[in-house]
Amino acid sequence: MIKVTEYHKIEDVYYTDLSKRKHRYYGNKTLEEIYREEFEKHIKCDLRTLLCSSFDKLSKIKLPTGINDEIAKLFDYQNKYQKHISDIFKKHLEIHTCYYCNIDFINLFKTTNKNTKSGYTLDHILPKTEYPHLALSLYNIIPSCYICNSKLKKEQNIGKRVPTSDNFDFDERVRFKTFMSNPHLIIENEKDFELFLKEDFSDLYSKYIEVFELNGRYAHHKYKVLEMIQKRKAYPDSRIRELAQLTQKTEEEVKQDLFGNYLPDENELHKYSLSKLIKDISQEIGLI
Ligand SMILES: [Zn+2]
Repeated sequence: MIKVTEYHKIEDVYYTDLSKRKHRYYGNKTLEEIYREEFEKHIKCDLRTLLCSSFDKLSKIKLPTGINDEIAKLFDYQNKYQKHISDIFKKHLEIHTCYYCNIDFINLFKTTNKNTKSGYTLDHILPKTEYPHLALSLYNIIPSCYICNSKLKKEQNIGKRVPTSDNFDFDERVRFKTFMSNPHLIIENEKDFELFLKEDFSDLYSKYIEVFELNGRYAHHKYKVLEMIQKRKAYPDSRIRELAQLTQKTEEEVKQDLFGNYLPDENELHKYSLSKLIKDISQEIGLI
């Protein structure tokens, strides 16, 4: 649900690293050389286009029949490239939470032996089995949590709008909303309301929400919503104004003190777990 905005910064280093790798099986030629000699005429685009194009462009590049096994052998992600790609991601990107769900932190950390480990798995948006020619394409690879990648999505297609695509506007179109589930219209505990992702006036992300089981998984985080609603009851605008005068702070600062990071910069949504939920509920309770 969080848009990937950083990939353009690593395109050069990504391409250089992968294209210069040599293959013993092909007489020690580089990936770039082998591709140019054997595959370019079939796939009808150069290696740079195949490795670094936007997702929208990539999804239009068809795999010609008859070269499936050969291209899978050359673009052997699992055995030859996974480690290198993971190292490029580790070195050049700041990764915080899962781009698919925004629930789990998938950041890097140092072990006691001073090794750098990552909390993420790299998912192929369009699966390698069906799209072997896109197995090394940067915009087809996304750092995600184990649950999203291996337990839920697996080989499923999630549609054309994905976190690495230009037109991924999940944040604008889809909002978390609360729905009263008690006749008194009062929210006092988690049972008094339901929490759902709701897309208004379109149906572009229903498959995405379904594949990642977002409604079911976020139901576990209703405590966070309840906490915000209760705090908001105790601190209406008038009280926030009073506190701002008393403490010589701005109303904005008082809200930050009370509600934490409720309105992160759009480009920083991926930094915090549940940030999309907190932002949407902040809107619902009139903080924003
Ligand atoms: Zn996830």
